Amino acid sequence: MAFTKENKFTPFNKKIWLSTPTMHGDELVWMRDAFDKNWMSTIGENINEIESEIATKIGCKYAVALSSGTSSLHLAIKLAGVGQGDRVFCSDMTFSATVNPILYEGGIPIFIDTERDTWNMDPNALEKAFCLYPDVKHIVVANLYGTPCKMEEIRKIANKHNATIIEDAAESLGATYKGKQTGILGDIGIISFNGNKIITGSSGGMLLTNDIERANKARKWSTQSRDNAPWYQHEEIGYNYRMSNVIAGVVRGQLPYLEDHIAKKKEIYERYKEGFKGLPVSMNPYDNVNSNPNFWLSCLLIDENAMCKQVRSDQDYCYIKEKGKTCPSEILETLAKYNAEGRPIWKPMHMQPIFRMNGFVTCEGYGRGRTNAYIEGNGLDVGMDIFNRGLCLPSDNKMTEKDQQVIIEIIRACFD
Ligand SMILES: *Cc1c(COP(=O)(O)O)cnc(C)c1O
Repeated sequence: MAFTKENKFTPFNKKIWLSTPTMHGDELVWMRDAFDKNWMSTIGENINEIESEIATKIGCKYAVALSSGTSSLHLAIKLAGVGQGDRVFCSDMTFSATVNPILYEGGIPIFIDTERDTWNMDPNALEKAFCLYPDVKHIVVANLYGTPCKMEEIRKIANKHNATIIEDAAESLGATYKGKQTGILGDIGIISFNGNKIITGSSGGMLLTNDIERANKARKWSTQSRDNAPWYQHEEIGYNYRMSNVIAGVVRGQLPYLEDHIAKKKEIYERYKEGFKGLPVSMNPYDNVNSNPNFWLSCLLIDENAMCKQVRSDQDYCYIKEKGKTCPSEILETLAKYNAEGRPIWKPMHMQPIFRMNGFVTCEGYGRGRTNAYIEGNGLDVGMDIFNRGLCLPSDNKMTEKDQQVIIEIIRACFD
């Protein structure tokens, strides 16, 4: 791969990814251990060990090892008592896995718009939402791209309305907020070990809590809700959600490298920030006084006045190139051309076809109707605006400094 003064790029011969697993070798030791001891099961030493290590790392009393972040969220939603027809306030700009478990339990998500300081749930919009729906008792809040949300403000509002907070820390393992680890900032938390997260088990997740009854219930539900009887006996619905001891071995091998992964991700973020100096852009923001993100994904936001015209429908997009201006579609297309993977910002839930009938609340109150068009000037809610002007950059820990420099040049050239 080369970048020359004539602005000629040749594609990377090895694809530069958004975010892939970074293995170290210790993972194999513990997988092997499971194999050698024949605990090729959902019981075993790796599970017990990683549950206790994660609980210590996070600073919570109990960590329950489950098959995914999504199954962990499902049990969290169930533990919190969300039932048929219950409205639940939920982050709007997030991955759909934050929301789906609410629907598994028959709940109705009401989406809360995003604020500009951390790209997470806007406490002012949440306050407005309680005016519109005063009887809501549950809030699901995510820490997008590894950046902690404004939990103190959200907590105050939740307390005022006696609402339970479920924290989706799937993307933010290792990030801290006011000196505390994310994942235990709400009443029940979850993390994920999916393949693209900051550390991985190839899959897997955990439910985090300080309440022993909640931990015991989650553990029981996750193993088919077997009662304490000489035969298979059940008083409740069960699930097959327990983590495998082999997966737990992978996570056990990864955990010692969490801080190392975060340091690398932070370097990537800082290099982008430095490399984009002078361009009409900003990086995904965070509260540098109260929080330390894990910098899982680096993102770019193009200034409004540097956006060329871009329109997105549910399936397609088009844009009109203008001198000195660009848009996420052009940058993503260009990155792909050179064999590098970027991604659009997670498309807000209130813009998703499946949720078109669900409530959506901005800090001004009722949300505007669903529209995918970019309107200059601009009449968009915050989530829509960030989706229109933002994108996720290649943030893989194995990308070299030189590769990243080329990525930066490729993106700079889009502004020509
Ligand atoms: C990845 C992710 C999940 C789901 O975790 P899985 O382990 O993939 O099931 C949930 N919420 C968010 C915000 C995520 O990014």
